[in-house]
Amino acid sequence: MAAPETPCLTDLPLPQLTELLQGMGQPAYRAKQVYRWIHQKLATDFSQMTDQPAALLVRLRAETSLAVPEVVRRQQSRDGTVKYLLRMADGNCVETVRMHYRYGYSVCVSTQVGCAMGCRFCASTQAGRVRDLTAGEIAAEVYTVQRELWQGDAAARVSHVVLMGIGEPLHNYDNVLRFLRILSGPEGLNIGMRNVSLSTCGLVPQIDRLSREDLQLTLSVSLHAPDDATRSAMMPVNDAFPLSALIPACRRYQAATGRRISFEYAMVRGVNDTPEMAEKLAKLLKGMGAHVNLIPVNPVDGSPYTASDAANVQRFAARLRALSLNATVRRRLGADISAACGQLRREEAAPRTNTRQERITP
Ligand code: SAH
Repeated sequence: MAAPETPCLTDLPLPQLTELLQGMGQPAYRAKQVYRWIHQKLATDFSQMTDQPAALLVRLRAETSLAVPEVVRRQQSRDGTVKYLLRMADGNCVETVRMHYRYGYSVCVSTQVGCAMGCRFCASTQAGRVRDLTAGEIAAEVYTVQRELWQGDAAARVSHVVLMGIGEPLHNYDNVLRFLRILSGPEGLNIGMRNVSLSTCGLVPQIDRLSREDLQLTLSVSLHAPDDATRSAMMPVNDAFPLSALIPACRRYQAATGRRISFEYAMVRGVNDTPEMAEKLAKLLKGMGAHVNLIPVNPVDGSPYTASDAANVQRFAARLRALSLNATVRRRLGADISAACGQLRREEAAPRTNTRQERITP
């Protein structure tokens, strides 16, 4: 394993890679070639970079590394969804999910090892946050899936990426933004931002910051409740950023970007699934042209919540529509392999390196 100070080339945007290679006496065009080997041809080893001088490859192998996670477990669902448990170079594991849609393959990536947000229904946060993933590690999740697809079919392509795995993407803001730029760059996989969705539990300052980045991605906000009492009981982040701060931030985001936000709403029996809740929700989001995604909460160990039954989810959706709110019930892919993130990692042994576990309330 590479020493901690060894630069991971997967994590470097092209200007930084160019600087590093120039420091090794290489011309700029070499950096572009190496960058393409990493982010377009998805090389897993320097020996694959066959158009590069042997001496350079020796040096790169000695002084740098590539992010190539190990697939520790792979579970395939009857509907074609595949869930991977990936081990990063330091021994920490995260989950990545591949979903197959009519239009192509979508990859759901983790952005942190664990999560500090403490949502009571979520398996990913139960032991707090261990560390952030680097941009290169997040990219390597996508690359692992893409390489596997190529093995079966050279034309198969990851076309969409969703940041809905383990972690709170906006709590790892800089690395996530760097990842998005690598992912969408013309020298990389060139996945358009319109095919990227980022989901947040509602960190208001970061939502404002994101609105100024000029990205065409889709922002999803995990709302889950239409009043502060219910939301705070489900999501501690609501104490820091209550609905009176979050909803205006969402309106500002829409005004600044011209992009509609979609809201996630996990339906919990007897908690947020009553007709009164539907009415409050419609009132809260009035005039935003918002889209609400309803999903029965996925029961996880140690969580007090049970899912609303399917008929009630449909009734709730119909009620929202009658109140002019655009609502859909999300199709559950991979239910038979518990594809909702966080559960596989929890089953796995503790990480090898003893990194500090923490939980922060923002
Ligand atoms: N931290 C981000 C993204 C990761 S979670 C966020 O909070 O949005 C992705 C989505 O799954 C979020 O909407 C989250 O609230 C939801 N989720 C987490 N655990 C769930 C569960 N047990 N059942 C249903 N949805 C869940």
